[in-house]
Amino acid sequence: MNNKIQSEKHTLFSKIPAVEKLLQLETVRKLCEEYPENYVHSLARRVVEDVRTAISSGSITSVDTIPSMDDLAQWIEDHIKTEMSPKLMRAINGAGVILHTGLGRAPLAKSAQDALRETAARYAILATDRESGKRGDRNRHVVEMLKELTGAEDALVVNNNSAAVMLALNTFGDGREAIVSRGELVEIGGAFRVPDVMARSGSIMVEVGTTNKTHLRDYENAITDQTAYILKVHTSNYRIEGFHQDVSIRDLKTLTEKHGLIILHDIGSGAMVDLRKWGLTYEPTVPEAIADGADVVTFSGDKLLGGPQCGVIVGRKDLIDKMKRNPLMRAFRVDKLILSALNGTLKLFLDPDKLPETHPVYAMMNAPMDNVKRRAQRIKRMIRDVAGEFLEVELETSYSEMGSGALPARPIPTYVVTLIAHKLSPTRLASSLRMSNPPLFTRIEDEKVIIDARTIADDEVRLLKDVFQQCTNVRFAPEHWIKWDLSVDPDSTKSGSDELPAIG
Ligand SMILES: *Cc1c(COP(=O)(O)O)cnc(C)c1O
Repeated sequence: MNNKIQSEKHTLFSKIPAVEKLLQLETVRKLCEEYPENYVHSLARRVVEDVRTAISSGSITSVDTIPSMDDLAQWIEDHIKTEMSPKLMRAINGAGVILHTGLGRAPLAKSAQDALRETAARYAILATDRESGKRGDRNRHVVEMLKELTGAEDALVVNNNSAAVMLALNTFGDGREAIVSRGELVEIGGAFRVPDVMARSGSIMVEVGTTNKTHLRDYENAITDQTAYILKVHTSNYRIEGFHQDVSIRDLKTLTEKHGLIILHDIGSGAMVDLRKWGLTYEPTVPEAIADGADVVTFSGDKLLGGPQCGVIVGRKDLIDKMKRNPLMRAFRVDKLILSALNGTLKLFLDPDKLPETHPVYAMMNAPMDNVKRRAQRIKRMIRDVAGEFLEVELETSYSEMGSGALPARPIPTYVVTLIAHKLSPTRLASSLRMSNPPLFTRIEDEKVIIDARTIADDEVRLLKDVFQQCTNVRFAPEHWIKWDLSVDPDSTKSGSDELPAIG
């Protein structure tokens, strides 16, 4: 038996195209002229090696599933074009998650794009004081705006909100006690868990209250002469309903003033305006937190602010100054690109009524149902035209999500186009759409592939034509060395597992 498998594998190995032959192929020779030759050669070796591995591991079990020389050449061409394209490959977000972390969270507003373009190609007055010619504070490019928007005395920008929290906790808590409610010991996005971050910051965590209820007296009883701060964490990615109580910043303030402590508040999403203004669910805002008495508030620049990835710290000037002097600051500081894109984003919040026109995130969450429906209808027609033969295409209502832990469990009504492929499972169809150029990201619900019209821009609808046209041609997925397209039933002709990695 073993011998039989060995000899079958041997036969398969002997059918792998040779690297030298591959390099002689006309298409590959052309690539060598257009792109760095060494790189093309390296890819050719790699792709052949991948086929060998697929045979060894049992992914390829028959001669007719070994990719042909042309398949390999095609893969090299696709790969090199992706890698050598001047930018990160764009993606179409049909998943309906507005702040999709896997797709780079917020699409930037035009004013942020303009700011980036201006700053990127030139020198900038980043950390130089023009008057004296001496070293200046790089944060000053956004401080004025952040003070205006939040009512705080001062501000500081770091790489992301995780860094902001770490910097704050380390600056004030290193070796000292920090009080936090058990109801706020949350995990956000896997790697960010409040107890772990507190421990790493050097703060000695003192937990008070229970998961669902914490009282002011719980905090009061925990204060010792070793206490440095009280930490409040917005439980941004989930919502407790029912028998539940926590202590407001306003109430805590009476306590911290009496005992000379500070309140650090990790508010997470960084809402600047009350979203109820547009009929959405309430999300605590930064200006409220400051007005209520939080001494330091930290939040993400790329959640509800919809700017570049960064973490913003606002609060009392003496405390911000202390954070600036923390040696960690050098590791956390941001560059000119982030500061200019942040500046370009913050400006828009000075005129919140206009946000649905000026800011893509606010445009998406506020898009009227009629507009979303019309877009969904256009998408439906387009897909039917191109791939109606292979797919059942319908219009349905569903829900979009804010994403990135903002407005959890409060979905936004939307229109979606649903797809059922006659011959492909939903996971394979979704994978095939992701492998198109540009890639289309969808979600799967009730065994259907869902394209949410709310997160697709009007000018992206025409791109979907290309996406679906590509899916009606034979596709080649190098991860598993299987081929499929909408017209061929892969399960009847090819080997390979149906469980491709989901990236939604
Ligand atoms: C999202 C979030 C974080 C992490 O922020 P990043 O910008 O992703 O690093 C931390 N705390 C809260 C409450 C959050 O919502």
